[in-house]
Amino acid sequence: QFPLGRRLPCDIYWHGVSFHDNNIFSGQVNKFPGMTETVRKITLSRAMRTMQDLFPVEYNFYPRSWILPEELSLFVEEVRTMKDSNPSWKPTFIVKPDGGCQGDGIYLIKDPGDIRLTGSIQSRPAVVQEYICKPLLMDKLKFDIRLYVLLKSLEPLEIYIAKDGLSRFCTEPYQEPTLKNLHQVFMHLTNYSLNIHSGNFIHSDSVNTGSKRTFSSILCRLSSRGADVKKLWSDIISLVIKTIIALTPELKVYYQSDIPAGKPGPTCFQILGFDILLTKNLKPMLLEVNANPSMRIEHEQELSPGVFENVPSPVDEEVKVAVIRDTLRLVDPQKKKRKDTHLSFHTYLLIFPTQLQSLHAGIAGMKDKQHKHHSLKLSLKLKFYLKLGSCQSLEQAREASGELPAAPKSPEAALPSLCLKQVFPKYASEFSYLRLVDRVAALFIRFLGVKGTTKLGPTGFRTFIRNCRLSNSNFSMAAVDILYIDITRRWNSMSIEKESGMCLQAFVEAFFCLARKKYKSLPLHEQVSALVEVCECRLAALHRKRLVWGCG
Ligand code: ADP
Repeated sequence: QFPLGRRLPCDIYWHGVSFHDNNIFSGQVNKFPGMTETVRKITLSRAMRTMQDLFPVEYNFYPRSWILPEELSLFVEEVRTMKDSNPSWKPTFIVKPDGGCQGDGIYLIKDPGDIRLTGSIQSRPAVVQEYICKPLLMDKLKFDIRLYVLLKSLEPLEIYIAKDGLSRFCTEPYQEPTLKNLHQVFMHLTNYSLNIHSGNFIHSDSVNTGSKRTFSSILCRLSSRGADVKKLWSDIISLVIKTIIALTPELKVYYQSDIPAGKPGPTCFQILGFDILLTKNLKPMLLEVNANPSMRIEHEQELSPGVFENVPSPVDEEVKVAVIRDTLRLVDPQKKKRKDTHLSFHTYLLIFPTQLQSLHAGIAGMKDKQHKHHSLKLSLKLKFYLKLGSCQSLEQAREASGELPAAPKSPEAALPSLCLKQVFPKYASEFSYLRLVDRVAALFIRFLGVKGTTKLGPTGFRTFIRNCRLSNSNFSMAAVDILYIDITRRWNSMSIEKESGMCLQAFVEAFFCLARKKYKSLPLHEQVSALVEVCECRLAALHRKRLVWGCG
């Protein structure tokens, strides 16, 4: 808890919702600026579309999506064309309101004409997406996977994936969508928040039965059926890395605007929740990314009609405690300090104490003795590490550790091995060619000019064109201005933001347009790559020249 009037800064700030909570000038914050906006359904779909335009095969793990209302006619048109070319295609679509969660406002349709244009959808933009009709079933039920991913750093990119996750089950046996069953949410939507209200929901004390299980228990069952579980994991790892690569350009724009380079500021990390669906053929498909995944380790139980109590959920506890524990271990400032000096214990944690409180409440209500004992030990450990974290000297830390019957030699020694596995930069060489929009974003950020902004003004855009020497007799500066105005106006008409100017996506569109013009016959990613190289080279040359002039 951050006591009122505290003057000393913290090493780690653990915020409940967003980056913006206080003026923070140092340490590490568990949220990135702009993450919530970046993973919203529409923004995510746009970022994925850009990547699908560049690398269609690599990004085929995200269902084809259209943004409503602005792409309604495009959606109708494309579906009609696809149906004409393949009359046996009988698609289903899922409509999801932007910014919605927990299945709120979601519905399925068979025909584009069934989109509800009155009421909510008009006032609330949405994504309409191809529905995955043949999901992998277990016990005849549809389920999805929630995986926890730690984005430890944006620059350089560092990604960790939790070795275990959750599988959330539907509560009605699955049938492929028909007009008759489209509205049956317990059959089609895997959201815990919906299925909990079904009479068929099973709370289980075991991690491999019931309506919420560990993902590892699913893998075990798949493996016993002879499935290639190793390949599945490697596909999931690539899905996660590719998705984060799609999100980083936008995140970097927010980052430089909130924490300008060269000024004092904190660094950031964030735990993300990835929702993944497995198809019948074991292909992982991304459904969405959550910026604030629930870290609750208990659930509500109705003791008698209308009387509820929070009880511990062993499945949630198994997965989530490990994720939080390992995140704290990985961002532990002591690690860095231990490397250069001998232990100077100086960790302050600003952590919302709900985790500990809810654990205590849960333990008090436990009936199973063994489970109670296990959880008490866990609570003691958590308390111990929070306490260790607040010690200001090694002596104090030693004193604190004396509270435990068998005091560990170092905090790390008492902990199980890491459940978070590093996947980036470990596999960076396989994926770095996909980081093309990142390089376009770096050009964009370079010309933003005034710090604290996320949009490029007309002068900034002109300077970019001039410095990269992209205008010529076929592409005059007047044409540059027209390109800027056309694209910027269209993007701003779709946004509710007040700040005027060219946003990153608009710049990316303009950049692709320039690349197509310059390198006509190549595939898009080669056109963009060639133009990025030209721009980077010319800017580097200009920089060298300026250095020489400066010296002169
Ligand atoms: P929310 O944020 O409201 O939970 P999701 O995108 O996660 O929205 O969708 C809710 C549920 O709908 C998912 O958990 C999944 O069961 C189902 N779902 C979503 N998109 C698809 C899809 N394209 N194909 C099949 N099922 C889907």
